[in-house]
Amino acid sequence: MRDTTKHQGLRNQLANVLLGKGITDQKVLNAVRKIPRHLFIDSSFEDHAYQDKAFPIAANQTISHPYTVAFQSQVLEVKEGEKVLEIGTGSGYQTAVLLELKAEVYTIERQHELFKKTSLFLPKIGYRPKKFIFGDGYKGLPEKAPFDKIIVTAGAPFIPKALLGQLKVGGKLLIPVGDETQIMTLLIRKSAKEFEQHELGDFKFVPMLEKRN
Ligand code: SAH
Repeated sequence: MRDTTKHQGLRNQLANVLLGKGITDQKVLNAVRKIPRHLFIDSSFEDHAYQDKAFPIAANQTISHPYTVAFQSQVLEVKEGEKVLEIGTGSGYQTAVLLELKAEVYTIERQHELFKKTSLFLPKIGYRPKKFIFGDGYKGLPEKAPFDKIIVTAGAPFIPKALLGQLKVGGKLLIPVGDETQIMTLLIRKSAKEFEQHELGDFKFVPMLEKRN
């Protein structure tokens, strides 16, 4: 678990690249400058960890591009102490960003291998979500609802109703919707029944899968 000044330098460069791509939220950029992304991926990719690239992690999944993570984090406008539900823990990198933004994080992963790996790894490097959940993100987490923010980090074929119902009024759900490519979709709950919807461009995620393995 080595983190060196060289890694730090590469992280600063990555933050500048993200700034050039339109990430202007300083708290998000500071999280990128701080989190040792090279420790979240296989050591054979270590030299490339601070390029704006996605990499394979366990169970045929990927760690998202830093730009995608930063974009989703910026759009969510997470404030200190907010209750955030993350669907698709994966490597835990997005989880670490949410924790750097001082959110109270609940994170769900449906692949047991990743759930186990990441729930052991994150606390080792000092990142402690309120709860790691092994389960199906389509259902959300009704027992801890409502949430200020819900972030989905897998491509969803449709917007799950359960997630909309678990938002506070004023809360935001950010979810990539589509099959091959996805449209990043932001839903803001205006009242018990009203949601405002914004489409924020095309992205590519691994699919959000319905059944547990
Ligand atoms: N933010 C993560 C993204 C990982 S890829 C990262 O950057 O590392 C998406 C993750 O969503 C995968 O780990 C996948 O197993 C998980 N996933 C897919 N369908 C899911 C579901 N229905 N519920 C919870 N997690 C799911």
